[in-house]
Amino acid sequence: MKKHVLTLALVLLCPFLSSGWGFLAHRTINQIAVYTLPKSMQGFYYRHLAEIVRFSTAPDERREDDPKEAPKHYIDMDHYGDDPFGSMPKLWEKASAKYSADTLRKYGTVPWVVLETKLALTEAFKQRDSVAIIRLSAELGHYVADAYVPLHTTVNYDGQLTNQQGMHSLWESKLPERHLAEWKLDSEKAEYVKDPLRAVWTAVQESYGFLGDTFDKEEKVTRAFTNETKYTFSHKFGKTRRSYSDAFADAYYKEVGGQVAYRLKQAPTLVASLWLTAWQDAGRPDLDQLMGKKPGKEEKEKLALELKAWDKNELMTQDLLLATHKEAVVERPDQINSAKDMAPPPVETPTPAPAAPVPATAPAAEPEKVKVKTKSDEGSSKRKEKKKKDDKKENDGWN
Ligand SMILES: [Zn+2]
Repeated sequence: MKKHVLTLALVLLCPFLSSGWGFLAHRTINQIAVYTLPKSMQGFYYRHLAEIVRFSTAPDERREDDPKEAPKHYIDMDHYGDDPFGSMPKLWEKASAKYSADTLRKYGTVPWVVLETKLALTEAFKQRDSVAIIRLSAELGHYVADAYVPLHTTVNYDGQLTNQQGMHSLWESKLPERHLAEWKLDSEKAEYVKDPLRAVWTAVQESYGFLGDTFDKEEKVTRAFTNETKYTFSHKFGKTRRSYSDAFADAYYKEVGGQVAYRLKQAPTLVASLWLTAWQDAGRPDLDQLMGKKPGKEEKEKLALELKAWDKNELMTQDLLLATHKEAVVERPDQINSAKDMAPPPVETPTPAPAAPVPATAPAAEPEKVKVKTKSDEGSSKRKEKKKKDDKKENDGWN
């Protein structure tokens, strides 16, 4: 026992890099987003699907080089007190006047980064700059997707304040990697978003609402494990790294898997909706013209096949999910500077007869009641519970 305690004490937990969804999820979200687009946009986006998918992880790639990048991916709402969504003005000008721009940057800026990227995308559409459209669309997809991750809304982003370290990659990488194939990725179709900032704040608030469960269920599952069965230890470069075991991940998945899948399949709809909104705000430029060559029969058939596979939840089994293709995984998006010479997506498929795409059906119902764990919960076994539903009308920070 003593030895075990010593081992634990010596464990050097690698500095955690809060990365949002893992690469698999980010890339999947952007691919699905293309499928949810209306026909008027889908041809262009499908033509560049490989890049839309590949660049989805560019913001994470450049975090190593750019210290300003990291806070763009999250917002630690619990830093702002017990009623953070009431306290926090939603507009940047008002929020920075209240808390200072430095504080906002320290605790994360994802809602405003989504808005900023959407505005840049609108501008790219106005300029008919297809390289920028593709890059910004992919990156907008990244930031929006990050807003759907509960652990991106808390100071305790990795469970590090509550002896639950490692939760971040467990939730956003390990669970999707082990279970994505089982999930029905039936995101709803894209729609114009009147108020993009409000939409992303709503996503952040929902994410925050899932935090209680995210942490509590880990504690619950832990009771059935010992340290030896809960964790695995790997040794590399003289350091020992502790991570959750597969057995623990599977038990935890039984508790929160629905939540993870739900967040993952909600994200593409807002991603595509903001692409659509930027395009519409730019005066609906003719995307066929931007393509140079209009989609031919083969390209259209391929898209129809993918839409059908998506509808039947067979993207993975038919090997159509680009995120799982080797070349898409190893390539570093930030090293690809131009989208000019983009090739059509590397999809090899046998070709059954194409079928008309079927619109996505509604996602699983949103949980009625959600718990919130804030920093002030730290060290306490009692969790605060708050009803988050329908409380955003009054005192929601918009005034
Ligand atoms: Zn990220």
